[in-house]
Amino acid sequence: MNFGYDGSVAVVTGGSSGIGLATVRVLLGSGARVALCARNASRLEDVASVLRRDYGEDRVLSRAFSVLDADEVNGFADEVKQTFGRCDLLVNNAGQGRLSTFAETSDQDWRDEYELKIFSQVLPVRAFLPMLREAQGAIVAVNSLLAYQPEPHMVCTSSARAGVQNMLKSLSVELAPDVRVNSVLMGLIESGQWTRRFAAREDQSVSRADWYGALAEKKGIPMGRLGDPEEAANAIAFLGSRAASYITGAQLDVSGGLARHI
Ligand code: NDP
Repeated sequence: MNFGYDGSVAVVTGGSSGIGLATVRVLLGSGARVALCARNASRLEDVASVLRRDYGEDRVLSRAFSVLDADEVNGFADEVKQTFGRCDLLVNNAGQGRLSTFAETSDQDWRDEYELKIFSQVLPVRAFLPMLREAQGAIVAVNSLLAYQPEPHMVCTSSARAGVQNMLKSLSVELAPDVRVNSVLMGLIESGQWTRRFAAREDQSVSRADWYGALAEKKGIPMGRLGDPEEAANAIAFLGSRAASYITGAQLDVSGGLARHI
């Protein structure tokens, strides 16, 4: 699918795996030049070299760092400016969920989770904002259905997700009309996180298809399956594109019907 990104520059945090990597591919396939980051340098470099081979040497910029390090995020923004000269779209995707009940969650866990969820949005937005304003660009935040539909076994992730959603709403008003701010609420998307949980399954004899099928049934997903990362990426690419030019402060749920709120 082509979302019309010719001449545009996009930044995707957490672009080396899962939803982020699928988004990078959709954006490159739609004509954008893309800068991506992640912490694990060797995995990022492997991914980036395949992307350069597939889409062209001068269309991919990669840099390994944590989005929680403000100096690194600012350095990345400088590098994007020097290399590509602009930034039209920021996709704040980096992160992961934390599985723990209230009883299992320590004070440090709460602090770590809030830091990850809030600052993985705040730091990149601050660093890329001048370029986004100049380009009349867009921010798309990858968030979770947990923001509206909390799960007791993911108590701190759910609550931090709700805080992020609240912040994004304010941001969408403050940055309008220069920069649009939207979010995508993920249900269960088959990505690195779920691959790791599948690998750690209790009964190692259960096949991948059976494990994912049982998971979809247990969760009551009306579509009867997990989402594919590309399906999530398509929603992100749409919200960041010119086709969504009058959409800001909105959230789009990509959950196969799992959302119960109206
Ligand atoms: P993956 O584990 O497949 O990908 C996560 C990506 O983020 C990797 O590239 C990882 O690379 C990077 N990353 C993680 N932490 C940081 C950090 N501090 N700084 C920079 N990069 C980082 O997971 P998903 O694709 O599933 O997750 C993408 C986003 O979607 C996450 O925010 C996740 O919480 C959210 N989400 C996913 C759902 C799902 O069902 N898959 C459901 C709800 C939300 P590295 O480890 O090398 O840093």
